[in-house]
Amino acid sequence: MIRVRHPDNFLAERAYILDVIFREFLGLEYTAVSADTDVVSLSFGDTTLCVDDDFFQRCKKGWLDHGSMPTVPLALWDTRELGNDICLVSPVIPVLYGEPGCHVSGSECHLGLDIFGSIFFMLSRYEEVVQPDRDKHDRFLFTSSVAYRAKFLDRPIVDEYVEILWAAIHRLWPALERKVRQSRILVSCDVDHPYLCGCNSVVVLARELVTDIFKHRSLRMALQTLLTSMRIRKCDLSRDPYRNNIDWIMNVNEKVGNRVAFYFITAKLHLFRDCNYTMSDPAIRDLLCSIAERGHEIGLHASYYTYQDPAQTIREADLLRRTMAAEGIQQAILGGRQHYLRWQPLITPSNLEAAGIDYDSSLCFADRPGFRCGTCHEYPMYSLAERRPLKLRQRPLIVMESSVIAKRYMGMGYSDAALELMKSYKRICHRFGGDFTLLWHNSHLMTEHDKRFYSALVRR
Ligand SMILES: [Zn+2]
Repeated sequence: MIRVRHPDNFLAERAYILDVIFREFLGLEYTAVSADTDVVSLSFGDTTLCVDDDFFQRCKKGWLDHGSMPTVPLALWDTRELGNDICLVSPVIPVLYGEPGCHVSGSECHLGLDIFGSIFFMLSRYEEVVQPDRDKHDRFLFTSSVAYRAKFLDRPIVDEYVEILWAAIHRLWPALERKVRQSRILVSCDVDHPYLCGCNSVVVLARELVTDIFKHRSLRMALQTLLTSMRIRKCDLSRDPYRNNIDWIMNVNEKVGNRVAFYFITAKLHLFRDCNYTMSDPAIRDLLCSIAERGHEIGLHASYYTYQDPAQTIREADLLRRTMAAEGIQQAILGGRQHYLRWQPLITPSNLEAAGIDYDSSLCFADRPGFRCGTCHEYPMYSLAERRPLKLRQRPLIVMESSVIAKRYMGMGYSDAALELMKSYKRICHRFGGDFTLLWHNSHLMTEHDKRFYSALVRR
């Protein structure tokens, strides 16, 4: 068993990050003690691996303070001095905390890179508390992130740091074995619009009719919208494209053996941004049953304001659970994603835990795909507000379709480069034995291009 000795401060944070790295990621048993030291040392037999302790030392001067942020541009380290066969996106890696370099002498190895502090910084989303910049939906800006500014948003830097740590451990103690992790394709769909137009809301129907007539100048579209709405009211969705797309999603994924997660909104607090359906709609009940019968997953798409409203999050999760129970749907775990990916790092994760949500999959920037948390592996979250580990797990979202395609984000459209970019993330995730987490809305499958992209990405 590895014996860890670490400085005598930030004990909750250190216990959390050691557990994530050793038990979750590497599957190695360890014991830890705090001591009057300024490095983290790992011992096994007579040999020792020392790792710099930079992040928490800086935090001593100001927890969640600007002074504890990494300085961009970051130093780069050519890891080939440690080994040539480390699984990395590139052997030259940015150093978040600590300094480049390693020294091996006799029975000791010293790594300048502060692996534990840097990984804590990335997984806890520490910078999102420190940096106040937000977009119009109160979301942390990708342009403010260290990952974007230091050009590593497309690298799973946490997973790469774990590989560096493992390379050092393996070099010192070749008999130790790590756990093997199987990569997955986690496909999900936020059900913002189960049907093309609202079945409950006369206001929404009227707005859609006005759009058809005055914006699209098409009486035919308006008539179609009206007919669809009438069919939905009668629970006949046979010709509704958004509803049919949900079946198409299930068909395509069943063929390749994927289980899809469909996240539902159960409340409407924002007049325009939340959903136009309720959990009591017969059509929604039918849809939930169909998803469950076909072996797919149902989850919560917590509504627009919930990201900072604990009581509302609990109400929405409870309503989903009651609806599922009423339909006889049983599921071992309940996960979900925040609508609009809204996230307040000091509040949202604790909210979700209090609502009994097992995992969240919101953490990706809406404007850019990539590794917001630095990893393609799910992990238990940490509450920076309460300074304790949470039961809530994070399944970082890697690609949302519109981040790449939509004009308001990267605007790459349906170009070959867009599909190649999405595929490149899938390849990286699988290289690290991680999860390629893909969000594709059923309302974004209206063209053959969409379906071609989708089919290529969900294929194993
Ligand atoms: Zn949504």
